[in-house]
Amino acid sequence: MNKRVNTFLVALLVATIAVLPAMIGSFGTALMNDIGVSTLVVLGLVMLTGTGGATSFGQAAFVGIAAYATGWLTTTQDLSPWLGLLFALFLTGAAALAIGMLTLHLGGHYLPLSTIAWGLSIPLLFGNIAALGSNTGLANIPPLQIGPWSLMEAKTIYYLIWPVVGLAFLFSYNLMNSRAGRAIRSLRGGATLLGSVGADAYRVRLWLFVTAAQLAAIAGWLYAHMNRFVSPSAFNLRASIEYLLMAIAGGVGHLAGALFGSGVVLLLKNKVQDALQILSSNGARLEIIVFGIVFILLLHFARGGAMGLIARWSARRKTPSAPALADDGTPPLPRRPLPTRGSEILRVEHALKRFGGLVAVNDVSFTVNAGEIVGLIGPNGAGKSTLFNLVTGAAPVSGGTIAFCGRDITHLPQRRIARLGMARTFQHVNLRPNMSVLDSVALGAHARGSAGMLRGGLSLDRREEHQIMAEAWRQLARVGLAERAGERAGSLPLGWQRILEIARALAADPILLVLDEPAAGLRKQEKAALAELLRGLRSEGITILIVEHDMDFVMKLVDRLVVMNFGSMLLQDSPAVVRADPRVQSAYLGSVL
Ligand code: ADP
Ligand code: MG
Repeated sequence: MNKRVNTFLVALLVATIAVLPAMIGSFGTALMNDIGVSTLVVLGLVMLTGTGGATSFGQAAFVGIAAYATGWLTTTQDLSPWLGLLFALFLTGAAALAIGMLTLHLGGHYLPLSTIAWGLSIPLLFGNIAALGSNTGLANIPPLQIGPWSLMEAKTIYYLIWPVVGLAFLFSYNLMNSRAGRAIRSLRGGATLLGSVGADAYRVRLWLFVTAAQLAAIAGWLYAHMNRFVSPSAFNLRASIEYLLMAIAGGVGHLAGALFGSGVVLLLKNKVQDALQILSSNGARLEIIVFGIVFILLLHFARGGAMGLIARWSARRKTPSAPALADDGTPPLPRRPLPTRGSEILRVEHALKRFGGLVAVNDVSFTVNAGEIVGLIGPNGAGKSTLFNLVTGAAPVSGGTIAFCGRDITHLPQRRIARLGMARTFQHVNLRPNMSVLDSVALGAHARGSAGMLRGGLSLDRREEHQIMAEAWRQLARVGLAERAGERAGSLPLGWQRILEIARALAADPILLVLDEPAAGLRKQEKAALAELLRGLRSEGITILIVEHDMDFVMKLVDRLVVMNFGSMLLQDSPAVVRADPRVQSAYLGSVL
């Protein structure tokens, strides 16, 4: 789908929504209002669960906190619903922040389980507070009022709900395509990638969680003033599961899936309820069974949801165009000063790493000076990648010390080390296959920007985003990947995915580049081009620490070699000396050298 078709579809959708109430009567309009309100909640879930990978079975509880907040303020305190909105946002945000800080550290299945806990307990709490009407809830909540217009009827509040839905989509779309959005899209698949670009996965997840709760809060506020009545049952676990079902039905990977999923599920629910009422007097219970079956079928046959199917049909491919890099007036991102050539920038002393009984890195010491290329070689399993993980902070040391640019980094978290100017690539490619090549590189510049989720969502990050994108283009062009900028990172051949990782590392403006087998999977000519690139970087003053198995490649490239075998360092010296050393030859059984 190209941009024109997209614009046309959005315009068509907006026009349809605008004229719909005149065509579908007040019952239909009320149903559309429910769909709109649900869409807000599900939009948050699509980002949190679909994109961010944190499953929440408790989203209805946030809707409830907001609905009760405004309900209480406007009935018992007689205050304006607009103050109710602020109060609802504040209370829901605070609750999400507190719950998030308590639970988002939990790994694996503990997080979804804990969401069930709050999804159950918060509605129970409402039912037990007398000031909130206990189980009967709060009635006589005032309708919303905009100037002289009272939004009492379905037909009038419709014209508040749907513009709000539109704005929420705009915010979410901007957010997902911002600096914070790239971090959100990288959350799945481990925290190491985010750490390596200087981002804090926990904080990204926490603020995403709060953002999703804020969308639920707006939904809760609209809900309270639309129905003018709140009771605990509307926000129970079943409601939460329904939201999740909507997100899955629509397709958790696509924002538009929120609208789709809410629409399909609520319309179906309406039909199913009608049908079941005829079949049995136990309609409500049967409904759960029917939905359960739909849920399982969806998971089985259409994991991508409705939007996933649509995306597959249209097989869209956006190719972003290179922004005017030179003469548009925006200065490039500032660069950090490089240390004087020849000064020591990395000092590893007695580094030790144990995995249970196995000593993967055993008392390794070496130094790297600014502006040189140091190769780390040794047979498979020698401990090279593990040593890289220690140096970059991706894994904690069991002993020894590591200093970078004169600073002790032994116990610093990975992201802090990255921010000091160390960038890396991974032996086992660490990309998000569905991100575009360009975005994958832009992620590398994360630590050079500062725009958060709010700035991103409100599109107040344009200048910085432009700078980051210009930088990403520059690095892509440098490694020879500019032509594939718009493709999925996962669609590149494996060898080129490694090159893509180099571009991502370069986008961080590193002092030290740590490359783990960058030439693996490349053809001869591509290897030559890579060697040329690395020499160019060295002449610019960037320091490189590299693991590579292709001896021909390494020997011609590096200034110095560190040789490891069985976790220990055999020696460090110039390529010529290393090549002649009998210990090295026997370590390799004389085969490769
Ligand atoms: P290289 O990169 O030189 O091929 P590695 O650093 O990957 O070697 O591995 C060194 C040794 O440490 C190997 O024996 C490997 O099996 C072991 N090892 C690496 N990572 C882990 C881990 N996370 N847990 C347990 N053992 C590991
Ligand atoms: Mg390795």
